[in-house]
Amino acid sequence: MTASETNEAGGAPAESQAHSCAMCHRGIPPGVAARRAITGSVCDECFRHLEARSGMPLLDFLNGLGVPVLVADSDGVVELASKPLLELVGKGLPQVRGRRGGDVFECAYAHLPGGCGKTVHCSGCAIRRAVTETFMTGRSLRQVPAYLNRGTATQFLQLGLLISTEKAWGMVLLRIDYIGPPQPPRDQPAQH
Ligand SMILES: [Zn+2]
Repeated sequence: MTASETNEAGGAPAESQAHSCAMCHRGIPPGVAARRAITGSVCDECFRHLEARSGMPLLDFLNGLGVPVLVADSDGVVELASKPLLELVGKGLPQVRGRRGGDVFECAYAHLPGGCGKTVHCSGCAIRRAVTETFMTGRSLRQVPAYLNRGTATQFLQLGLLISTEKAWGMVLLRIDYIGPPQPPRDQPAQH
């Protein structure tokens, strides 16, 4: 196995941060971080334990990652979000739970008839496409360029994002690797 070469998206080496499990401290085979883009800091066994226990231990785990990450279902409805993500969007967990991603991130199109996921703009949404693809294929995606048009119809603020996704516990984890002024995409052609 040459698991150290499975760093498909070309970002920072995924193997550099996790050699022993963050929960049980046993060694992690190198392929795990390549397979699980967001939860690669824990071994397969601890990953399964998190699924079985869910609820608060899962939220503690997400907070422990120290990065903006949320858990959504296949339809983009948010179930859990880490503290850094809540700080990023300036909301509390009760305000994001059960809401669609577009509402949580204040996507301008989420106000249109149908709402997030159902407007004419949604088929081009790279965030939605990444979540759907990861849910359907089970594959992690890393540092996918995306755009977010925040605000109302009269006041537009375009933000650029890099996102990573992972299928976990029958849901999709979404991590915000970058959010800010739009930047040239690193690995893929621009998506408009
Ligand atoms: Zn472990």
